[in-house]
Amino acid sequence: MFGLKADWSTEVFDRYFTIGDYAGGEARWCPGCGDHAVLSAAHRVLRDEQQKPELSVCVSGIGCSSRMPHYMGTYGFHGLHGRALPVACGVKSRRPDLDVWVATGDGDCFSIGAGHWLHALRYNMNMVVMVFDNAIYGLTKAQTSPTTPVGFKTNTHPTGAIIAPHNPLTVTLGITNVSFVAQVVDWNPPLLFETLKAAYRHRGTSFVRIIQRCPVYSDKVVKELQSDPSRFLLLQHEKGLAVDDSALRQFPERTEHDPSDLGRAFQVALDESRIPLGLLYHNPAAPCYEDMSSQGTDFTPEQRLAGLETVLDRLTI
Ligand code: SF4
Repeated sequence: MFGLKADWSTEVFDRYFTIGDYAGGEARWCPGCGDHAVLSAAHRVLRDEQQKPELSVCVSGIGCSSRMPHYMGTYGFHGLHGRALPVACGVKSRRPDLDVWVATGDGDCFSIGAGHWLHALRYNMNMVVMVFDNAIYGLTKAQTSPTTPVGFKTNTHPTGAIIAPHNPLTVTLGITNVSFVAQVVDWNPPLLFETLKAAYRHRGTSFVRIIQRCPVYSDKVVKELQSDPSRFLLLQHEKGLAVDDSALRQFPERTEHDPSDLGRAFQVALDESRIPLGLLYHNPAAPCYEDMSSQGTDFTPEQRLAGLETVLDRLTI
């Protein structure tokens, strides 16, 4: 119940949050950039969940998408290149009561941050990891990233990228203790929203790869995909994501996929002739590291001091 307790009372005992409560500064991404759609979907999820902005934190590394904390009316941490995940794990470890959103990109996560990607997913701390994958380094103006398609011309490969791109889905599905793996495109807002909502509600690390438009540096990559709907494979299942008519119209190729089946998820991810959209894998029973490690977060200052002195006493000679 929101608002005033009674007509005669001036005591406000709860708040109703609107989209504006989650908005930060004006987003300065290029017009047509897919990052705008992801930001809007995240705002909507928080609004629908009525999460208090002061109990949410957005952590990022470096890249265009990593500007997201500036555009969220929550706490934020714009970190170093590739280091979003260790910062996010640190936040979660000491403040498990906060919900954590991670904004990272194909360069930030799959290249310089690749080591953190493997370990953070294994820790399975409760957070939403959004990888904005535009197949290029956008912020530094068009270098080849780990997901740039072969033949695509960049500043570092002017005659075209020469090595096959990473498959982030198969890598992620192979990480021990992985618990939630989904893939979506930024240009279907209902599906994007449902994916982020499911990711938010999952308890554990939700890995969401978002195929993202960069109309400035990798427009051709997405345009080619958009011109051929048969390239996509929409995953459907009663345990999967809610899919509305717009997704059914946009992605006519569909298959039943039970997201609790890890082996089948691998098969779907390995088939690079199709780009799966939806929930590939979900294991709500996977253990979360913070449940085992976040001890003492409710200690009083006196208890913390006593604990510190106990540790220091061990060093007394
Ligand atoms: Fe978006 Fe590309 Fe512009 Fe970066 S360069 S803000 S990814 S459109």
